Amino acid sequence: MEALVWFRSDLRLQDNPALRNAFEQAKNVHAVFIFSNNQLKKHNEANVKIDFLKSNLFLLEEKLDKLNVPLTIIDSDGFDNDASLIEQFIEKKNIKKVFWNNQFGEDEAIRDKLVKILLDKKNIDYETYNDQIIYEPGFLKTGQGLPYSVFTPFKRKWIENFEMDFLDIEYRYEARNNLDYSSNVRDFDFNYKKTHQVNMELWPAGEDEAETRLLRFLNEKAIDYSKNRNDPILDGTSRISPYLALGIISSKKCILEALKINNFEFNSGHIGVTKWIDEIVWREFYKNIMFSFPKVSKGQPFQDYSKTILWRYNEDEFNAWKEGKTGFPIVDAAMRQLLNEGWMHNRLRMVVAMFFTKNMLHDWRLGEAYFMQNLIDGDFASNNGGWQWSSSTGTDAAPYFRIFNPITQSTNFDKEGTFIKKYVPELKDLDKSVIHNPSIEHRKYCKYPEPILDLKESRLRAIDAFKTAKS
Ligand SMILES: Cc1cc2nc3c(=O)[nH]c(=O)nc-3n(C[C@H](O)[C@H](O)[C@H](O)COP(=O)(O)OP(=O)(O)OC[C@H]3O[C@@H](n4cnc5c(N)ncnc54)[C@H](O)[C@@H]3O)c2cc1C
Repeated sequence: MEALVWFRSDLRLQDNPALRNAFEQAKNVHAVFIFSNNQLKKHNEANVKIDFLKSNLFLLEEKLDKLNVPLTIIDSDGFDNDASLIEQFIEKKNIKKVFWNNQFGEDEAIRDKLVKILLDKKNIDYETYNDQIIYEPGFLKTGQGLPYSVFTPFKRKWIENFEMDFLDIEYRYEARNNLDYSSNVRDFDFNYKKTHQVNMELWPAGEDEAETRLLRFLNEKAIDYSKNRNDPILDGTSRISPYLALGIISSKKCILEALKINNFEFNSGHIGVTKWIDEIVWREFYKNIMFSFPKVSKGQPFQDYSKTILWRYNEDEFNAWKEGKTGFPIVDAAMRQLLNEGWMHNRLRMVVAMFFTKNMLHDWRLGEAYFMQNLIDGDFASNNGGWQWSSSTGTDAAPYFRIFNPITQSTNFDKEGTFIKKYVPELKDLDKSVIHNPSIEHRKYCKYPEPILDLKESRLRAIDAFKTAKS
């Protein structure tokens, strides 16, 4: 039988149920990846993430080639086009069955529905799998049969239902006979123009690299994760997010390897390891929110009351925030980290998002979009969840009156000011006693801007705006 595996956000061989099942059932296996600049743009995908995607496709092709599975990249105008492109490929290669791993964003679900209708019409079999998170999205429900909207009970249920069999992911692929054509990945015109300034050596591509990175983190840093995860200069987190976002590694693999060093315990053992697994569960929580509450994919807040908040808009402030020139050193260092690395430390994502939505009182959707446009790990569900948490519009969100003070955050989490000095070099000569909030003289001397706003006043303005919306 001729089988087709349609790769999407699962650019790996290990723990890839669609690929594995195709190998188990079919003699000849073909592979496609549908690439669409239009679609990537519609979803605000970052230029750096597309760069990373491309490199990963090259490495995926090399791995598949060793198994005699040619990877065909197909150019598309967007999701509306994909069903007919799949149809053409099926006809050309006489495919009898199609395999894919589900994506469950709104647009992706609509696309897949169209593809299924077409395959049904043509009497072509297909099998689809859940590979992005442990349980099918929407599977875990509260006692009342409702989707969870609070993290802690979700996590409890997630652990209660967990079976160690889920982690039986080892599989040895046996190479197939050569097919009569080869991959087009090297000749394909991605029409890609690099506009980012990220040093890609920070993010080597490929699933071997993802696994090495995971194991290095677990062996060297995970035990101290609880202690070090909030200090941006320590680099105490895994930086695995870009690999999870494109499915270069699976969450099952992450959990399996973490459990191995924790005696297969979720609730005891090393607190650093259990805390890290919690974060993987946060990712699963937000994917469930996206699935069960479609409004969040339509630009709407989770909390209806927040629809009436009167957001401000000031272009100069917005630009200062984007460029890392707000005059608040920790905010500026974080925003420059984003531009330099395509990534930002989690604590700082919260700091800059709160600063944007509370102190600047700008609409969270603008910040959400800017993050997507610049993050190498851009993931709709986690990004939307993070922005709605920070702006107190989301599920299980920070209460609206909880507003991080960026200077206090800076003193607490970058005590020595080392992180600030790395990303805001104009402040490198300042002592740690002044670097978090330089005086007017220091600012002049360092050619560093005055603060764009008054923290106290802007805090009260935000509380007022939220209170009015709530009343
Ligand atoms: C405003 C805002 C926007 C965000 N946007 C994204 C995004 O687009 N893509 C993204 O992957 N994460 C996003 N996050 C979550 C988090 O900041 C990143 O996942 C994390 O910083 C990635 O670094 P790491 O791999 O070293 O994480 P680690 O601390 O090593 O955690 C391991 C993994 O757990 C998951 N994780 C960790 N924290 C969270 C969280 N708060 N929510 C959901 N999953 C989490 C990630 O998959 C991460 O790779 C956002 C958070 C905020 C506050």
